[in-house]
Amino acid sequence: MSGSLFPGRHSLKLFRMGITESDLNHLRRCVELARDALEAGDEPFGSLLASAEGAVLFEDRNRVAGGDRTRHPEFEIARWSAVHLTPEQRAGATVYTSGEHCPMCAAAHAWVGLGRIVYVSSSEQLGQWLRDLGEALPPVTTLPINQVAPGVPVEGPCPELVSKVRELHRARVERDKSNPPRPSSLT
Ligand SMILES: [Zn+2]
Repeated sequence: MSGSLFPGRHSLKLFRMGITESDLNHLRRCVELARDALEAGDEPFGSLLASAEGAVLFEDRNRVAGGDRTRHPEFEIARWSAVHLTPEQRAGATVYTSGEHCPMCAAAHAWVGLGRIVYVSSSEQLGQWLRDLGEALPPVTTLPINQVAPGVPVEGPCPELVSKVRELHRARVERDKSNPPRPSSLT
């Protein structure tokens, strides 16, 4: 962000300031990526990796519809960053995501030494929405990120965008009820 009052070297301050306008812009992009995923027949999750200076380094969306249920964007980000960034760059980077990391992705995030996480909706919120919509429980227990990765600074939920993410999940459930996904040949 040009003209930022809070350049990356002072990012520790940001941890105590909650979600900033720059954070919000990155989160809005994550919601767009989640919408892209939904429109591509996938589950509506989107995430991006930003450098300490706020530059977008990598972004992805959910890609589980092909049958590999581990294709979460936060997991892709962790693996991309392990290949392309130094430990210092990873520690200074922020992962933005439409939904709080699942335990698999929180573990990957911590194993590769990434920094702060900012999410729109929590796993607890998503779980409640899916229960209200009559969805089956996922095969993996959801946990707050800090129960899996206690050293990671985490911000969320983001009230300004939560209703947009909820609507994407509602649309996904409605779509799958009327047109159930085909069983993958891989499963
Ligand atoms: Zn995940």
